[in-house]
Amino acid sequence: LEVIASVEPRIAEATRQELADQRGSLKLIASENYASPAVLMTMGTWFSDKYAEGTVGHRFYAGCQNVDTVETIASEHAKELFGAEYAYVQPHSGIDANLTAYWAILAHRVEGPWLQNAGVKNMNDLSEADWEKLRNELGNQRLLGMSLDAGGHLTHGFRPNISGKMFHQNQYGTDPVTGLLDYDAVAKKVKEFKPLILVAGYSAYPRRVNFAKMREIADSVGATLMVDMAHFAGLVAGKVFTGEENPVPYAHVVTSTSHKSLRGPRGGFILATEEYAPSVDRGCPMVLGGPLSHVMAAKAVAFAEAKTESFQTYAQNVADNAQSLAGGFLSRGAKLVTGGTDNHIVLLDVTSFGLTGRQAESALLDAGVVTNRNSVPSDPNGAWYTSGIRFGTPALTTRGFGHDEFDKVAELVVDVLKNTTPNATKDGAASKATYTLADGVAARTKGASAEM
Ligand code: PLP
Repeated sequence: LEVIASVEPRIAEATRQELADQRGSLKLIASENYASPAVLMTMGTWFSDKYAEGTVGHRFYAGCQNVDTVETIASEHAKELFGAEYAYVQPHSGIDANLTAYWAILAHRVEGPWLQNAGVKNMNDLSEADWEKLRNELGNQRLLGMSLDAGGHLTHGFRPNISGKMFHQNQYGTDPVTGLLDYDAVAKKVKEFKPLILVAGYSAYPRRVNFAKMREIADSVGATLMVDMAHFAGLVAGKVFTGEENPVPYAHVVTSTSHKSLRGPRGGFILATEEYAPSVDRGCPMVLGGPLSHVMAAKAVAFAEAKTESFQTYAQNVADNAQSLAGGFLSRGAKLVTGGTDNHIVLLDVTSFGLTGRQAESALLDAGVVTNRNSVPSDPNGAWYTSGIRFGTPALTTRGFGHDEFDKVAELVVDVLKNTTPNATKDGAASKATYTLADGVAARTKGASAEM
């Protein structure tokens, strides 16, 4: 920090403050964690200064021998950790991984066969008229993913996102009564819509998915099954999700982030079958530019950490703690989407407290509980205000919280929300609850207006 302060003291101060804030509050955002010092330190090296567009042994720049070492180790670790045939560790983030995967699937399923049919090996040899036809063909494909309010991600075909614009998109939801995935309804929609790509995976669905069933559904129309395991990669790596709950043996392509439950550096990666590997390997320059070599190095360190027995214990604790948190809410009369959890996410419906998600998020933040508001299925308050709060256990599990602490968290949350009164707007709320947590984490409470 002293080195940073000598150049720009305000950045040093913000960095120091960020550490204080992350340590002095209860981090319950389901997509966040605390990476190890080894992971953090690996990101801060001179690999950041190196350009390495291309693939291992086939770069567009000279002097990439050490990046080749790093990328090889990272992908070998990923393949071994997840039992995958192929791993691509270049994507800079989860969104990059999904975009790269979509274009790789299009290259494999549409562009390749189209060029072969036209008897053309190189796209540059196409006439202008044929080029236009190929572009139309690529732009005419269908994608089906889980809707945002059911727990899917923006990149799964949400209209305002590029995935909803580059494909003809359609979405599947969850059962309106149980909130659970209805595989028969998904199968019916797939048969009607006939997507080229069926996307499974979620950001806010508090349950496990049966990927064998999803593959069977994809196969019924010859669709490619892509699973986005960004959220639960740590539970797959830690062998909490096995058999039909592990997407790797069932999906053609699996995308992920490395920084959520997997507890690595901020980044993305893709796993694929050998069939799809050559197309995914063209991620750079198809979609990506120079890889972040320092982050690929940190992914290798995180994958190595995730191979250990202690990571398996951690992953099991993440799932057990979600049960404790959900149990703590239910025993205090709170309402949960799907009635509970069997992964790392708990989705609290805050309408029974007379609050919007935004009001609840704001009141909890004032009590030192950092969460995010989230839509619930068929949310009456829309995607901005929402009616839910999403909780995740990965970060506090890293800090050593167990059953008793998560029960205490549930008590604190319910008490804050019970004592919060909405202001006139959907944004504002005022809470009277005050807390000091047993572990010494001081929970701040203003007891006044929490308008943002
Ligand atoms: N996929 C899923 C399921 C996610 O939940 C997220 C992030 O929240 C992403 C992709 C995007 O990841 P990133 O923020 O690294 O682009």
